[in-house]
Amino acid sequence: MKSSASLASVGRKDSKADSDGLRESSPETCPVCGQAGARKWLRAPDRLHGRQEEYTLLRCPACSLVWLNNPPEPAEMHRHYTDAYDRLIAIAGETSPQRWRDRNTALALHKQSGALLDLGCSSGAFLQSLRGQGWDLFGIEMSAQSAKKAQAKSGASVFVGDILDARFPPAAFDVITCFDVFEHLYEPRKVMEKVAEWLKPGGIFYVLVPNIDAAEARVFKGYWHGLELPRHLFHYSPSSLSFLAVSAGLRQMSIETRRNPAVGTSLSYVWEDVLRVVGIRRTPVAYRGAASLPWRAARKFVRATVLRALLAFAPVVGEGESIHAFFQKPEDLL
Ligand SMILES: [Zn+2]
Repeated sequence: MKSSASLASVGRKDSKADSDGLRESSPETCPVCGQAGARKWLRAPDRLHGRQEEYTLLRCPACSLVWLNNPPEPAEMHRHYTDAYDRLIAIAGETSPQRWRDRNTALALHKQSGALLDLGCSSGAFLQSLRGQGWDLFGIEMSAQSAKKAQAKSGASVFVGDILDARFPPAAFDVITCFDVFEHLYEPRKVMEKVAEWLKPGGIFYVLVPNIDAAEARVFKGYWHGLELPRHLFHYSPSSLSFLAVSAGLRQMSIETRRNPAVGTSLSYVWEDVLRVVGIRRTPVAYRGAASLPWRAARKFVRATVLRALLAFAPVVGEGESIHAFFQKPEDLL
């Protein structure tokens, strides 16, 4: 997830597919590999805000990319990025310094200095974590307010606007990073091509996205917290992400999946539906304040029992919820 501020909302050509999304196959072609005959994957609403409108996800039979059929128009998307959503993202970004330290450590295995651009840098928590370490820092951010914070905190030069509207010369960066943003983009192929253009030969693209093929996604399906409909427009597996990057000319260096301890949110979505059947409507996750004492106690109990059992079992049943990938621009790619 990322704040509304972080998104590149380039207008995508509207889909001509059926609006009910109930057909098993669709005339839509895959926006990444061009394969025809996309299959219906699942339908689900925006559970974070507790809204009822359902969205249809399609899956490419060739490259396994999953995408949102008939996404909201870019001009309408602001309705789906509420203040409550932005608050949750800001809290998550500012209360997890370990997250940035882990990413710095992973990056340092490949590059230790140079020009670095963070796509969708939000209020600059990651850029700030690199300040004073020999990097020339740059960011791209949709929200002027967040960009200003990012500049103040990190000293980075931040372009305000859409990724595809930024004007950097070719071969400008040693590293481009993109954390929990790529799944929000309307035109991932064009952005990946831009990344390939902006990187120096030998430069690194470090990208994190949710994993649609994660064990948790398979178990929870339409209740999986990582769906984030309709804010996530594309849902990647390691193979579809790799296909996209390689088709833009990049070389895969490493790709792995990691556990994301947010199973509680998916469970909460299931629980909300169960309660709704018996006429009880809980406050949607986006609007909840601090949890009440009994609820915190119940949650603690679930974490200590059910979640511990699930997580112990998880490595057996499949991949983690988050894809961490490094790609490199080959020396001979101009
Ligand atoms: Zn495809």
